[in-house]
Amino acid sequence: MSQVITRIAPSPTGFMHIGTARTALFNWLYARARGGKFLLRIEDTDRSRSTPEATQAILGGMEWLGFDYDGEAVSQFEQAARHAEVAHALLAKDAAYKCFATQEEIAAFRETAKAEGRSTLYRSPWRGAPADTHPDAPYVVRLKMPREGETIIDDAVQGAVTFPNANLDDMILLRSDGTPVYMLAVVVDDHDMGVTHVIRGDDHLNNAARQVQIYHAMGWSVPVYAHIPLIHGPDGKKLSKRHGALGVEEYRDMGYPAAAMRNYLARLGWSHGDDEFFSDAQAQDWFDLSGIGKSPARFDFKKLENLSGQHIAATPDAALLHEISSFRGATGSAPLPQAQADMLVAGMGSLKERAKTYPELLEKAAYILTSRPITPDEKAAKSLDDVSRGILRELTPQLQTDSWTRESLEALMARVAEAHDTKFGKLAGPLRAALAGRSVTPSVFDMMLVLGRDETIARISDAAG
Ligand code: GLU
Repeated sequence: MSQVITRIAPSPTGFMHIGTARTALFNWLYARARGGKFLLRIEDTDRSRSTPEATQAILGGMEWLGFDYDGEAVSQFEQAARHAEVAHALLAKDAAYKCFATQEEIAAFRETAKAEGRSTLYRSPWRGAPADTHPDAPYVVRLKMPREGETIIDDAVQGAVTFPNANLDDMILLRSDGTPVYMLAVVVDDHDMGVTHVIRGDDHLNNAARQVQIYHAMGWSVPVYAHIPLIHGPDGKKLSKRHGALGVEEYRDMGYPAAAMRNYLARLGWSHGDDEFFSDAQAQDWFDLSGIGKSPARFDFKKLENLSGQHIAATPDAALLHEISSFRGATGSAPLPQAQADMLVAGMGSLKERAKTYPELLEKAAYILTSRPITPDEKAAKSLDDVSRGILRELTPQLQTDSWTRESLEALMARVAEAHDTKFGKLAGPLRAALAGRSVTPSVFDMMLVLGRDETIARISDAAG
């Protein structure tokens, strides 16, 4: 078989929808796994709805998710002349015709049809009208749809779907101002871009039955179609604003790793046995259209969080620092000073445990991201009473001479606790307050080891007063 070419063809009319991201993922996986090409086309034909900001959101979303596409992004609008050229070629082949019917005539046709209980599908009297009967008036170009028989879309997900041709109207290809309609543009662009597989939402299945007629009329080969069920919300209804978080950038800003997002989106409607947690390499290895289900998948935040935590835990520390820095950059935080970045990597082992998102990880890393003098929060301040401050003062010279390993620090704390007839648990609160200014922190020993002797002693001395 010739090289696989897939594409994602979003309309730039707002944010990048999470469903678009999933469609992009499926197309990307399918092409990448087969040494094929994955293309991006911005469907900006509808000028009144398309905005440059929305195009930027799509490009940003693609970049964040790591969906590298081949070549430049194609603007559909810029191909308008080519779309019109194909409409004229169809006219020349007698596969399309000029329709001079006015809006009023069409409306009147529909009204009569309705009143008489007939189909309101418009049947233009201009189909087959000889050219010498054409008035000198504005016209649209319509495709001559087959009226007999049926059109079968042999869909890789939905199976064979049959459409009676009697239900197909002679769709408009060019408007009376000569501009092409979207339905024509999609087909011409897919053909010109050499697209072999059209993987997209099943809200386009009906369009496919009409679009293939253009392929047939032009004598072009029809791509493989795979119409994937749309994503539903947790309540089983079509995903909508009501469910929140429709835009890809919201997930980036909530601090989910892109790898987790890819993993989660892959599982939204596609499966490979019981596998839930997997890498990009595995997904590329396993992905096939046969693994796409026929019923809509439900968005499940818990599952996304769970996968996110697993991806964070599985990411090597240095790579995680890089990701976190990008996350901070994307959400408007200043770059990390080198010393803090180094400490983050040193402390990553304990920070990444059980952190489901980057903000959760950064929350645990607060002791690294803060600097002296540390003002303890209200709860932490309570544990710094006179008695505990006295113990902290006594601790400082002993820390000075400690060999600064986990074992020696643990032993030291145990000795100090015993000397004061208490448990280490009682010491932990004041130490957390001194080292992090908080009552909930990673383990005291993890913090000491990451901060190092000098910083630890300085923070403890500050708190001891
Ligand atoms: N522009 C269409 C959309 O955003 C996609 C068209 C297609 O994939 O054929 O839904």
